[in-house]
Amino acid sequence: MSIARVEPLTTARALRGPFDYLIPERLGEVGVGTVLEVPFGRRRITGVVVEMAERSDLPPEKLAEPIRVVGTGTTPDLVDLGRWIAEEYCSTPARGLGLVLPPGTGTGGERTRFRVEKSSRITEAGREALDNGARLGAKQKLALTQLLEGELTGRQIAARAGVDSSTLRRLEERGLIERRNVNVRRRPTGAGVGNAATEAPALTGDQRAAVDALVARLGDLAAGEGVLLNGVTGSGKTEVYLAVVEEVLARGRTAIVLVPEIGLTPQAVGRFQARLGDRVAVLHSALSAGQRFDEWQRLMSGEATVCVGPRSAVFAPLGNLGLIVIDEEHDSSYKQEGDPRYDAREVARRRATATGSLLVLGTATPRPESWERLDRIDLPARVDGQSMPPVELVDMREADPRQGPIHRRTWEALAEVREKGQKAIVMINRRGFAPWLTCRTCGHHWGCPNCDVSLIVHRESGQLICHHCNHAEPLPGRCSECGGTTLSQTGAGTQRIERLLAEELAPMPVFRLDADTSAGPGGHAGILSAFDREESAVLVGTQMVAKGHDFPEVTLAAILDADATLRFPDFRAEERTFSLVTQLAGRSGRSRAGGRVIVQTLAPNAPSMSNAATHDSASFLAGELGRRRELGYPPYSHLIRVQLAAEGEPDVDRAAGLVADRLAEALPPGAEILGPAPMFRARNRYRRRILIRSGTRAESIAAVHSTIEALLADRALRKITLAIDVDPQ
Ligand code: ADP
Ligand code: ZN
Repeated sequence: MSIARVEPLTTARALRGPFDYLIPERLGEVGVGTVLEVPFGRRRITGVVVEMAERSDLPPEKLAEPIRVVGTGTTPDLVDLGRWIAEEYCSTPARGLGLVLPPGTGTGGERTRFRVEKSSRITEAGREALDNGARLGAKQKLALTQLLEGELTGRQIAARAGVDSSTLRRLEERGLIERRNVNVRRRPTGAGVGNAATEAPALTGDQRAAVDALVARLGDLAAGEGVLLNGVTGSGKTEVYLAVVEEVLARGRTAIVLVPEIGLTPQAVGRFQARLGDRVAVLHSALSAGQRFDEWQRLMSGEATVCVGPRSAVFAPLGNLGLIVIDEEHDSSYKQEGDPRYDAREVARRRATATGSLLVLGTATPRPESWERLDRIDLPARVDGQSMPPVELVDMREADPRQGPIHRRTWEALAEVREKGQKAIVMINRRGFAPWLTCRTCGHHWGCPNCDVSLIVHRESGQLICHHCNHAEPLPGRCSECGGTTLSQTGAGTQRIERLLAEELAPMPVFRLDADTSAGPGGHAGILSAFDREESAVLVGTQMVAKGHDFPEVTLAAILDADATLRFPDFRAEERTFSLVTQLAGRSGRSRAGGRVIVQTLAPNAPSMSNAATHDSASFLAGELGRRRELGYPPYSHLIRVQLAAEGEPDVDRAAGLVADRLAEALPPGAEILGPAPMFRARNRYRRRILIRSGTRAESIAAVHSTIEALLADRALRKITLAIDVDPQ
């Protein structure tokens, strides 16, 4: 008799599993990772087996039997990973396990299954009938001829020969074909962009050395801790990943390649698909439920041996894992913003260590955490001997404000690009037309009714929009306070820059890439392709334009508001700014035509600016780590953030005070509580933040988790929404 410990997949915190069930023979094979439908009181619920046992603490008559096995389930090591996430990120087992199960499990999305179709094969009798000129209808003959090439589904025959299922049924009755049920794969479409080469180029000396050093670590016990591939923009990191992936596959193992949000980096995906073909499964958010399910099953069954995708691809159900690559490891999309707030880089480390896989983190702008902790392999130069583009810092403090958001020097550089028939990328960190609308007569300023922020002018849609809660109202013609009709739209966003550039640089085409345009038809990849096809053009946009794209004709990269990210009251502001400026700079000068970079800034002396101007990550990181050590910030401490929100300000204050008091009692010595501090009101809710800084990670996480759970169980936090974020970004 065997017992399965089953964790219910419900979001109710009160249901504390796992619960024991008796497994009868009739259910077939049940083990850790099997998904079961089980009776629970008077209900039926879905659950996952998290442990198998010989006996239960409950008497046998109290043990129920599961109703049935659901789908394929997942693997034991992924169950471990899901449970670990629940603990490490203060979430629930159901949420942690939800990450590692087949798409659709337990969410009522159970309709997501294999697509089964009838597939036809020609029989010997069928071949003879064709050869002997037996009496066949025209359609029957057409169908049989198609089937000479191999087995086809009804859908495929219909597409090729316009033959319907009644014809096939008659052929089957005559014994000329055989039909059977098969699973049909729903293929993802349109993930990759560009005509990537299918052949590997000859590696440069630096690339070869990097590949050799990485391959030498395969199978190394410490390999799961990670190696930093520190390669400047354009140094050919992707070729290094590909070479190591091929080596891992040759050894009969499998690989995961994580990339930032796929919509933003279609080129990278295209390169993997072109080189590795059908062995690659792609998981990304634009897949239909069916496509996602099928790609997942291809990985689970071993048919696909490489998974490329954004952060959630770290949960790809690959057996015999040998390698996890994290491309652009500095990218903030690796941290999940909703519960569980996991960091895919840490999850990857956990999984690589548990499976004896090699973990490779690649970037031109390493995080201080990685620089401090990891062994490093450098790619110090661009391929083809291209030099890094010179960076000019333009001091906007001295600029005449009447000149507008684009400095004279930037205009000159753009004019030169047009003259020479080249391409430019211009970045500004805000979408919309203008960030402020004010009345010239009375000074009234339009803010969001739900949030303490300005409404942003969107001229295209004729609206004022809140970028926090998406509240939208028509753009007013007169002031709601004094009736004045002179309203000024100050500051600039992508729409205004697009218009300025189009006016000034005509007839050169200008493309805009931001969350508004990429939501349109063709999306993000469509805009990038259009820019790619032009001989000479400008691409203007938000941070999206700085991500890993490789357009050789770009000879100018300009950033108009380099300090936008520097003004955030956050200890990572400097790091983020350095990374953004360096990444944007990296888009320029990727061919023999060379290139340059212009950085408009109000803070030319900030370390993030001066070091980005010299492409000097090492100096930047040395300075940044020194500062962090002094101030006791990560990587020299661990942070946990507790965020509370409520409709009533007194409610949130009371709750925040209570949480802080309980935490003070529960936290280990040396842990420090910062706050509660107010945050700006958002979505009609008042918010408070408590930050815990400590040197003892596991103890502090456990203390925070149990404190909050206890308060929730006491119903002491009614009317409050609460989020715990371990390693907040
Ligand atoms: P990174 O990711 O380091 O910024 P990429 O991998 O995008 O750099 O490579 C930059 C460009 O150089 C790409 O167009 C790539 O195809 C090309 N490339 C990479 N390695 C080689 C090589 N060994 N020989 C020729 N071209 C290469
Ligand atoms: Zn709002």
